[in-house]
Amino acid sequence: MFHPRIIHKGLALALIPLAFNVIWIALLSSSLLRAEALMAREHSQTTILTHINKATGLIFSSFGQLASFASNGSEGHRAKAEELNDEARKEIISLSQLAEGDSKLLNLLHELTATIDEDSHALETLKVQPEEANVLSRVKRLRNLVRQGGLKNTILMSIMNDKQAELELIRRSEEEAAAYAHAVVVAGLISNFVLALVLILLIVKDVTSRLRILVENAHLLPKNTKLIRQVGGHDELSELDEEIHAASRQLIESADHRRGLMQMMAHDLRSPLAASMVSLEILQQNQKELTAAGEKQIRLIGNNLKTSVELINDLLLLESLEVGHLTLDCGPENLRELVDAATLTVSSLAMLKNIEIKNEVSKEYANIDRNRILQVVTNLLSNAIKFSPSRGLIRVVSAKHEGEIEITVMDSGRGLAPEEKANLFQKFHQTNEGKKAGGSGLGLAISKLIIESHGGTIGVNSELGKGSEFWFSVPIERPSDY
Ligand code: ADP
Repeated sequence: MFHPRIIHKGLALALIPLAFNVIWIALLSSSLLRAEALMAREHSQTTILTHINKATGLIFSSFGQLASFASNGSEGHRAKAEELNDEARKEIISLSQLAEGDSKLLNLLHELTATIDEDSHALETLKVQPEEANVLSRVKRLRNLVRQGGLKNTILMSIMNDKQAELELIRRSEEEAAAYAHAVVVAGLISNFVLALVLILLIVKDVTSRLRILVENAHLLPKNTKLIRQVGGHDELSELDEEIHAASRQLIESADHRRGLMQMMAHDLRSPLAASMVSLEILQQNQKELTAAGEKQIRLIGNNLKTSVELINDLLLLESLEVGHLTLDCGPENLRELVDAATLTVSSLAMLKNIEIKNEVSKEYANIDRNRILQVVTNLLSNAIKFSPSRGLIRVVSAKHEGEIEITVMDSGRGLAPEEKANLFQKFHQTNEGKKAGGSGLGLAISKLIIESHGGTIGVNSELGKGSEFWFSVPIERPSDY
């Protein structure tokens, strides 16, 4: 079975209108040929009519000369009549050549020549009897010639009527041919336009709808989710889609493998770390005679163990968020109360630096996963504390826009240069200042994924020396596709 590829569709787009144009041009040329043939016929009929007119003029002039000859018997008039008859005969010969194939006209011309020949003969008779000077007797002899004149007139009128009728017919056919040619041109132009438009629309619709699926699948590729939509057909686009599907299957497989490995490692690391933390706590409680230095060391080990466990937890969470495996447990949450809870979590850190945190968030409700958004606000607050000077002020404000609510954490720290703001939300990204301050560089990346999984956006406004404003917005009602 034939499966059209993109090249075939392109060829069809070019060849179908071309074939249509060939038919159109053939129709136009046939109507042109018909018009030319009609014009030639009209020309020949007009020429015939011109000759007939001339012949008629000559015959009637000859008749005039005869009338004069009848009245005064002048030889000059008779000779002139004969001369005019000769000329008329020549015209009839020319007409006979033009009337080739027209038997009716040839017959009439033949009859006409016969009457002219008879006239010439009668004139000859008159010439050889010059003694008949009496007008009456000449008129008597001319009676025949007059009768002949009437006959000639009838023949000429019949030819003229025939030719006029024929000319009329040709002109009507010419008008019809012109109207037909006009209709062919207009219909051809319109059909050409419609055909081209329909073909382009069909091909463009076919390609764009499939390209859209391809782009959707390409976007889903890094998210490690199963690709559901498939590009139909058997051309280059469907082949590309098959490749994307194959790549997606491989990526999902390797992501599953990586996740399994990571979970195993996390479990193997977390368990001894947690056990060590418990042992340390027991050691702290039971060893009353610990030296100050020993106690400091134990606290240090405890902090390091806590950081390691937190890092493992963050990495696991990031992994789940990246592969879209984290399910949100959403419900209506009071955002002011949520910011209060986050402030409480970081209060000990804030106290260490004498930093005041002002919660100015309004009592708005949003449909969110409380623990996840709490994690985001806590991260933004602990960053704000980390990068603010002692006795600084941190404000948390809110603004309601159409269908969404925006929370901003404003600090009075050193702020960020434009180049420092780029890639801030990518995992492990830290500014030089951030590296000095410690941390893993995962907090903002996790926050971004949490906010995006709620269908929201996150960002930062900051200028060096003017503090930073980290903001995020979440829809008041969570969109159904998240
Ligand atoms: P961490 O705080 O563990 O380094 P984050 O992802 O939370 O990781 O932050 C990434 C980096 O962004 C920080 O290291 C720091 O360079 C920068 N940053 C975050 N918050 C602020 C802030 N409020 N002021 C200045 N820099 C900040």
